[in-house]
Amino acid sequence: MTRPTIMTALLFSLLIGLVPTGCGPAPETPKTSTEERITVVATTGMIADMVRSIGGDSVAVTTLVGEGVDPHLYQPTRDDVATLLDSDLIFYNGLFLEGRMGDVLDQAGKDRPVVAVAEVIDTTQLIHPEEEEHVDPHVWLSPDRWASCGEAVRATLAGHAPEQAETFQSNFEAWTARTGELTELGVRSIGSIPPDARVLVTSHDAFNYFGQAFDIEVVAVQGISTESEAGLADIEALVDLIVERKVPAVFVESSVPRRSIEALVEGAAARGHDVVIGGELYSDSMGPAGTPEGTWEGMVRHDIVTVTKALGGTVTVTEPVQEDQPS
Ligand SMILES: [Zn+2]
Repeated sequence: MTRPTIMTALLFSLLIGLVPTGCGPAPETPKTSTEERITVVATTGMIADMVRSIGGDSVAVTTLVGEGVDPHLYQPTRDDVATLLDSDLIFYNGLFLEGRMGDVLDQAGKDRPVVAVAEVIDTTQLIHPEEEEHVDPHVWLSPDRWASCGEAVRATLAGHAPEQAETFQSNFEAWTARTGELTELGVRSIGSIPPDARVLVTSHDAFNYFGQAFDIEVVAVQGISTESEAGLADIEALVDLIVERKVPAVFVESSVPRRSIEALVEGAAARGHDVVIGGELYSDSMGPAGTPEGTWEGMVRHDIVTVTKALGGTVTVTEPVQEDQPS
C-alpha cells in the first residue's frame, strides 16, 4: 500500500496554486483534510487496522509490511524510512517481532512518539516458551491481549490530539466490545472440537496466544520466529504426534512457505495416517484488502472458523450477531 507523502501533497498544492484563477474554480484538493489528519505509520496490517478502528477519520495510516509478507524477516526499504520520517506517530508490535527494523525505528523515534503496542502488556500476561530466547510476540491472535494493546493506541492518539480524546475513547470502547464478541465466538467454536482432535499444528509457533484464549493445544514445526529453520528431527517428532493422536488436519500460513507442513502430510501418509491440510491461516499477516480477512477481526474469525471446521467442531455463529433481531 502506498500513500502520497506530505512532501508530495505540498508540492501538489503548490502546483495547484500556480493555476491562473481565470480557468474557473480551482479543483478541491485533498490538502486540508490530509493535513488535518494525524499521519500514522504502522508496521503490520493488524496494527494499522487497530489504529483506524480507534482513530477513525482523524488518522491517515500507512502500513509497512504488506499482505502475505513475513514481519520477522522484513527489511525496511528506503521509501519506508522516508515514510517513517514523515509521520506524526509510529506504532509497531515490539517483542522482537520486527527483528530487522530496530535501527530505523530508533532513528525515527528521535523526533516523534514510536510506540511498541505489545510491550504495554503486563509481563505476567505474556507467553515465554521455555526453549525460546524471546517472549512470544504474536499477541494479536488473542482478542483480550490485543485489546490491551489498543489502550496504548488510544492513549497515544489522545496525547497527540487532546481535543479529540473523547472520540478516541468512544471508538476504543466500541472496538473492545467487538473483541469480546470475538473471544466468545472462539471459545464456543474451538470448544466444540472433540477433545482428542483439539490440537493446532502449524508451520511456525504463532498461535500460543490463540491457543490460550480459546483452549486448544498448539504445536509448530518452527519456533516463534521464522528466522529459525525447521530440522528433520522437528518434522519426525511432529509426525509421531500426528499419527499417535490421529490428528485429522494441519494448517499452512499465508505468510510462511508451505513445505514444512507438506512434509508432515507426507510423513504421516508414509506411516499410514492420512492427515489433510485443513486450510490456510492468517498468522502474521491479514488477508487481501477489501475482503473480510483484510481486517484484524476478519482474520481472527477466519482462523477460528477454519480450525474449528477442519478439526471436526461446529461453528454456530459466523457473522456478527444482529442486535435488532425480533425475539
Ligand atoms: Zn510469527
